[in-house]
This record gives sequence, C-alpha cells and structure tokens, in this order.
Amino acid sequence: MSAPDPKSESAHVMNTYARSPIQFERGEGVYLTDRDGRRYLDFYAGIAVNALGHAHPHLVAALTAQAEKLWHVANLYRIPEQERLATRYCETSFADRVFFCNSGAEALEGMIKLARRYHHMRGNPQKYRIITCEGAFHGRTMTTISAANNPKYLDGFGPKVEGFDSAPFGDMNAVRAAIQDETAAILVEPIQGEGGIRPADLRFLRELRAACDEYGLLLLLDEVQCGAGRTGKLWAHQWADIAPDALAAAKGVGGGFPMGAILATEAAAEGLSPGTHGTTFGGNPLAMAVGDAVMDVLTQEGFLDEVDRVARRLWRKLEDLCAARPEVYSSTRGAGLMLGLVCNEAAGVVNADVVARLRDHGLLTVGAAQNVVRLLPPLIIEDSHVDEALSILETVAREIEEGRNAA
Ligand code: PLP
Repeated sequence: MSAPDPKSESAHVMNTYARSPIQFERGEGVYLTDRDGRRYLDFYAGIAVNALGHAHPHLVAALTAQAEKLWHVANLYRIPEQERLATRYCETSFADRVFFCNSGAEALEGMIKLARRYHHMRGNPQKYRIITCEGAFHGRTMTTISAANNPKYLDGFGPKVEGFDSAPFGDMNAVRAAIQDETAAILVEPIQGEGGIRPADLRFLRELRAACDEYGLLLLLDEVQCGAGRTGKLWAHQWADIAPDALAAAKGVGGGFPMGAILATEAAAEGLSPGTHGTTFGGNPLAMAVGDAVMDVLTQEGFLDEVDRVARRLWRKLEDLCAARPEVYSSTRGAGLMLGLVCNEAAGVVNADVVARLRDHGLLTVGAAQNVVRLLPPLIIEDSHVDEALSILETVAREIEEGRNAA
C-alpha cells in the first residue's frame, strides 16, 4: 500500500476505509449534493442509518430544540427523555427494559454481557458460550469480530475472544448440534446485511425460538441493520411472530444521530444491575430527543404500511430487471427496503464495479458479501424515486453489456 500524499487533507485520517473521493455537502430528503453541486439519489442511506432521509424537518426541529436546552448529563441522574423513549420502545415491542448506548457494536457487546450475566445470576456461570451464524456481521470490536468469526475481520488482531461457536445460517440441525452444556444463547441477524442481504427463513427464526425454550437459552437478535422499520415492520422478527429475549438496535433508530439500544425482557435484563454495565454518552438528552422524533415518524399511522407498499413495488421492478438483464443481475433478495441485487459472477460482473458505475450515474448504493449490491434507501422514498433508481440500474446494465459486446 502506498503512503498517503502528505499534502492531501486526508493524510491525517487513519487509513481504515477505501473511500470514494466524492465529498457531500448537504442532504435533503432522498438526495445528497456534493461540493460540485452534483445531486445523487441516496439508496444506501449511510448504510441504513438515515432512515428518514436527510434533514427531515421533524428531526431537525427536535435536535435543535434540545440543543438549546441540554445536551449531556451522564447516567448518574434520571434522564426523562431516556425514560420516555424506553417506554415507547417497550410499548411497541416484546421488551420491558432498554439500555441506551452509541452504536451497533456497543449494543451487541452489552447484549452478549447480558446473556452471560443472565446465566451467572441463575447459578450457571459455566453457561457463557454463544452460537452465532456463518456470514454474520456484528461490529468491529474484539468481541463482535470474534462472535461473527469472519477471518476477513479477524486477521492480524491476535487471539479471538473466547466463547463463540458458529453454525451455518439457516441450518437448524447444525445449530442444534452446536448446543452444549456451556451454551448461554443464540445470536442471529434476522436478515444478514454485510453477509449479502440474506433473510433468515421465518421458520428458522421460529425454530431458533423453540430450541432456546427447550434448552433454556436466550435468543438474541441483531437488528442493527434490519430493524427500525426497514422491513416494513418496526422490528424484522415481528414478521415471524416470535419474541426474542433481547435485541440490539442502532443505525436507523437515531436517523443519523449516533445511537444504539439493547431491548430486553425483564428476566433477561435482570442481571445488568447497577454497576455491572454502563456507558458515558449513551442515552443523553440530545440523542434521546432525536430517537424520540424518529419514533414519532415510524409509529405514525400508515407510515410502515407505506414502507411495505413501496418496498413491494421496488421488489417487483427489481425482479423484472433481473429477468430482463440476467447477464448482469442474477437475482434479487431481501425484505422490505433492505434489498440486494446479486451480480452475475459467472458473467464476470463484480458488485464493486456496479456500485461505482451506479454512483457515476447518480445512484448511491453499497456492496455486500456474495457479490451483492445493497439497496437501503431511506424509508421515505416514493414511487418516483423507485423509478429513477430503476432507470439508472437499467442504464448501468446496458453499459456493462455494451462494453462486453464491444470487447
Ligand atoms: N450489527 C449489524 C447487523 C450491522 O450491520 C452493524 C454495522 O454495519 C453492526 C452490528 C455494527 O454497528 P456499528 O457500526 O454501529 O458498531
């Protein structure tokens, strides 16, 4: 790898990302504008973060009103904004208790601690292992890369954190075979995001719940990417009509403000008593004001129905596109507005190239494993945005096909 150009303004930013040189200056709804004034249709939403698009007036008003009152007080005091949002989360989900933090990985870390403490409190400290799924992504801390067990993210970081066993995603026999006396919990993403937009079978989720009940394990769901309304329900597992024992949320719940949360049942949360877990910034009034405003919109009558409707329309159009351009796009997968276009590997189509071409034509997407182009638009997209995105996807397919014919 070549050394950074010392004159470049980015020379002092740690080199952890392969960044595109585009610099965005402002965002409005479903569009981003760069420094040269070029507009892009945003179908990646900061990787499923800008759930309500950019500069949503309700979020801007909530943030600025709170910014003038109180930003931070730390969790040594009662924080009414936090209590209010926790109540809303619990009233609309399986949960009884919420712990607020700052990111997805932090929510996962806390949820893993919660599972271990749960068994410790019941006199079973030997139960500390957690079964995870191949292809998972749970964040970049030592524990979460160890949990996901992906060699790509573990390479060079020394010994893994102990206590994780992995099984193929969707393979219930393998999951059951991995259960041992030391097992504390099963952790799964209802839809794998980074892993290539792979939705779990609803039956798999139900069978995981049943296995957890049978063996006294906790069912932990990672809804960092698929939660917060992205699938057309507030939480993705609600499609399977099951309840987990705990759930990790982040990304969309803050609509762009860094925020994460662990939602848990009373029993699962019991072990995290005063002094066992904490965070400095989590749940501060500023984050809570934005999180509350996001919930105002997500729970508005008809909002998620509209997400579901527009998502199904997008899905149908992507299916048509795959049928029309199979040499470029092999198939569509996902749920709601968490969709993946699988690029035709056999024909030499590479997702990173497709993402770059789409960007050149004004459509922002993001790659994922298994040669997938991820489409994670803000939940506020309308039919016209779907049509605009499809037209660019079509243009790029034509361009790739023409390039191939010319070669
Ligand atoms: N879990 C899932 C499913 C994710 O997609 C991500 C981030 O992409 C994380 C956890 C980690 O979240 P964060 O990057 O906020 O730590």
